[in-house]
Amino acid sequence: MKRAEEYRKQLGGMRPNIYVGGERLRRDDPRLEQPINVVASTFDAAQEPGLDGIATAVSHLTGEKINRFCNIHQSMEDLLRKQRMTRLLCHKVGGCIHRCMGIDAMNALSVVTYDTDQKHGTEYHKRFLKFLEYFQKDDVVGNCAQTDVKGDRSKRPHEQVDPDLYLRMVEKKSDGIVVRGAKIHNTMAPYAQEIIVLPTRALTSEESDWAVAFAIPGDWEGVHQIVRLANMRPRKHLKAPIANFGDAESFTIFDNVFVPWERVFLCGETDMGGRLALQFAEFHRHSYTGCKPSITDILMGATALAAEYNGVENAQHIRMKLAHLIGIGELVNAAGIAAAYHSEKTPSGTYIPNSIFVNVGRRLAGENIFHEWEILCDIAGGIYATLPFEEDWYKEETRNYLEKYIMRNPRISAENQHRLFRMISDLLASGWSGVELAGQYHGGGSPIMETIGLLRDYDLKPKKDVVKYLAGIPLDDPHG
Ligand SMILES: Cc1cc2nc3c(=O)[nH]c(=O)nc-3n(C[C@H](O)[C@H](O)[C@H](O)COP(=O)(O)OP(=O)(O)OC[C@H]3O[C@@H](n4cnc5c(N)ncnc54)[C@H](O)[C@@H]3O)c2cc1C
Repeated sequence: MKRAEEYRKQLGGMRPNIYVGGERLRRDDPRLEQPINVVASTFDAAQEPGLDGIATAVSHLTGEKINRFCNIHQSMEDLLRKQRMTRLLCHKVGGCIHRCMGIDAMNALSVVTYDTDQKHGTEYHKRFLKFLEYFQKDDVVGNCAQTDVKGDRSKRPHEQVDPDLYLRMVEKKSDGIVVRGAKIHNTMAPYAQEIIVLPTRALTSEESDWAVAFAIPGDWEGVHQIVRLANMRPRKHLKAPIANFGDAESFTIFDNVFVPWERVFLCGETDMGGRLALQFAEFHRHSYTGCKPSITDILMGATALAAEYNGVENAQHIRMKLAHLIGIGELVNAAGIAAAYHSEKTPSGTYIPNSIFVNVGRRLAGENIFHEWEILCDIAGGIYATLPFEEDWYKEETRNYLEKYIMRNPRISAENQHRLFRMISDLLASGWSGVELAGQYHGGGSPIMETIGLLRDYDLKPKKDVVKYLAGIPLDDPHG
């Protein structure tokens, strides 16, 4: 398994194709350090003895120990452990752990390349397994670039004024394909070694050019990443783990990019394009049943501490709000556990989580996230938003005033009151927090997407039959 230092070194050697604020950056630029620290923590976790078997797994290809972020789920237990790992690791970085989407995409490819070969006589699965061997051996960090820019939302890919608004194949050659388009909101793409590209939606038979899936290195020729950073505010004096982390999303341009055949995992099979899009979403929604409860844990802990530091932890309305947070966090977690317990082994051997449970869990999480933030905002009061800058706490003339007047619960030191409210300020009133909030709402599919998934997969007939039975309506009555 790779060490964090090797990962950082590899990034430094990549071709600089990252643009931030009008500048082209190398991947060892200090401005990328905070988001890279998030992914680096996944390598550290795999070395922690206490996380052995949680942050690590055994490769079904080689029998070797691998980072769990490179594992293809071989059992219900694998799904449960991935969920548990995600909840634990998000605690370490104060938010999204970034690395799940790559392995969620790999799991989706393992299922759908196999099924495509069975149906269409292709050889995608063999190619995929070869790629997976390298992915596991080199402990690769992969991004999933699924979301297309999509143009006019009322139109399908082939109906857009500009057909490139959904990424598509523009040329088929003897040694590979050429693709053009753009993917958006790609978390961690600037510090991923591989970008795994999947279709974003179901496709019709006219849309074979859009039915493409492949993997290419993040610095591949023709790939340009225009990146928006959202780092935690740096601290000068009041050092704290949360300030070490950040986030980055890429607007990824594919300008006539050549992809060799050995890296192409779908090319023209429109019936499987939507299947692949959906399968990724379901693995990713299962990952959310680990990360979202972790975010709730952090919001809940901050809410409980703010109440205690403010001296009002026993107020009835605060206890009700904490109970609400407990309910959301643990129900989403429970949905993930249920999805794993009701998982199915697919013909490829990969286990897939139950779609109903992943969708109810992810939907509940997305629909509640703004309310969860509202609860912390309510209980913390306004100080997280108006907290003076860190420098003023360390300036001779102002320090004593701030330390005297920050005091609330007299049991808590002025420094710890300051620490808590500065962290809540990072959580609720920073550039990072705005992006994180949108990710917690839209990532893996906005709640409307889970609603569509539920209405598609949930069988309402047995419910109607129960009511017919109770009402005395014969089940086989043609007029019933
Ligand atoms: C912080 C963050 C990180 C992310 N990370 C990744 C990533 O790493 N990889 C990746 O691939 N994606 C990523 N995503 C993308 C995420 O999956 C999308 O944001 C989500 O699927 C919604 O797509 P959209 O943003 O294009 O919104 P839109 O598609 O514009 O949807 C917005 C709303 O418009 C409405 N709408 C859209 N289309 C229709 C229609 N045809 N009919 C009726 N109503 C419609 C719905 O109400 C929908 O909720 C990330 C997003 C965020 C915010």
